[in-house]
Amino acid sequence: MLMSIGFSVVFHNASSHQLGRQIPPTSFYTGINTDGPLPSQVGPQTQIRRTTDFDEFFQRRVSEGRHELLVRLVWLNALALVAGAIFSYALARKTLEPIEAAMESQKRFISDASHELRTPITALQTTNEVALRKQRLKPEEARDLILHNVAEAAKLKELSDSLLSLLRQDSPKLTYRSISLQDVARDAINQIVATALKKNITVEDSVPNIKTRGDSASLTRAVTILLDNAIKYSHAKSRVEISGYAKGSHAYIFVKDEGTGIHATDIPHIFDRFYRADRSRSKDQREGYGLGLSIAHKIIEQHTGAITVESQPGKGSTFTIKLPLAAS
Ligand code: ADP
Repeated sequence: MLMSIGFSVVFHNASSHQLGRQIPPTSFYTGINTDGPLPSQVGPQTQIRRTTDFDEFFQRRVSEGRHELLVRLVWLNALALVAGAIFSYALARKTLEPIEAAMESQKRFISDASHELRTPITALQTTNEVALRKQRLKPEEARDLILHNVAEAAKLKELSDSLLSLLRQDSPKLTYRSISLQDVARDAINQIVATALKKNITVEDSVPNIKTRGDSASLTRAVTILLDNAIKYSHAKSRVEISGYAKGSHAYIFVKDEGTGIHATDIPHIFDRFYRADRSRSKDQREGYGLGLSIAHKIIEQHTGAITVESQPGKGSTFTIKLPLAAS
């Protein structure tokens, strides 16, 4: 705006000066003939007599020209101000949009995390306060209290581990190399085998030796999350299957269960942080924090892959991981 005003001032001064020069100097007028030719008939060589009317006419035209120029420049600057303001506002909004979204997501994350942390901390506080109010604790009561405290501490640890894992996935240090998805599946199964045994769930593995380029530990974590969920949301004595194949330039891994399944309305949200599908349907299941799938999703995204799910409530779910094949 300052540039436009500065330019207008310079332009106005220069133009006013040039307009002023249109008035012929006194030396232009000679003679005494009052019936000199009309201004329109004045040629370069014509000598005419200066009249007051003629002088006034020129003065008026020049000042009209100056006024018109000033008005136009003021309008032009006003227009530039309005258009510039609108354009700057639109541009500022566009630039700030991703920053606003990041801040909003951070705020939501902190608020959700604090909310999740409050639950086990409040449970710990309440049971310990109730126990403290008693004069004496029987050995079995003391044991129950300790067991409860240990369980709540385990939940807190699980939550803080998940939060740390999410943060690490935000700025990961991944080592990409050619890895076998068969090894990834085996390592993941080793991590969940104890939980599967507890529920008497059979885990069937038929992943072939297909290779992708990626970070072995991260991919194992993603597959472990899927297998862990498959067991968590399955009935005892059911079957969980992990299989895969290569097609075109991609490798596919499937984790299939015969568990509770997921409602169509929940499917678009299950990869969101802290999202848990209707808990009344999974009351009997181990509680989670709704972080597992968002971690898995992030890991697969970092490997330029995709993770999808197909599910039928009451029948089971199949999670699919798609990854680019390693160049051989
Ligand atoms: P959580 O710790 O609650 O399991 P996740 O992010 O791993 O968190 O999963 C989000 C939600 O998706 C779960 O609360 C559950 O409702 C649903 N879900 C995930 N995997 C399965 C599955 N294999 N079967 C049924 N529901 C599932």
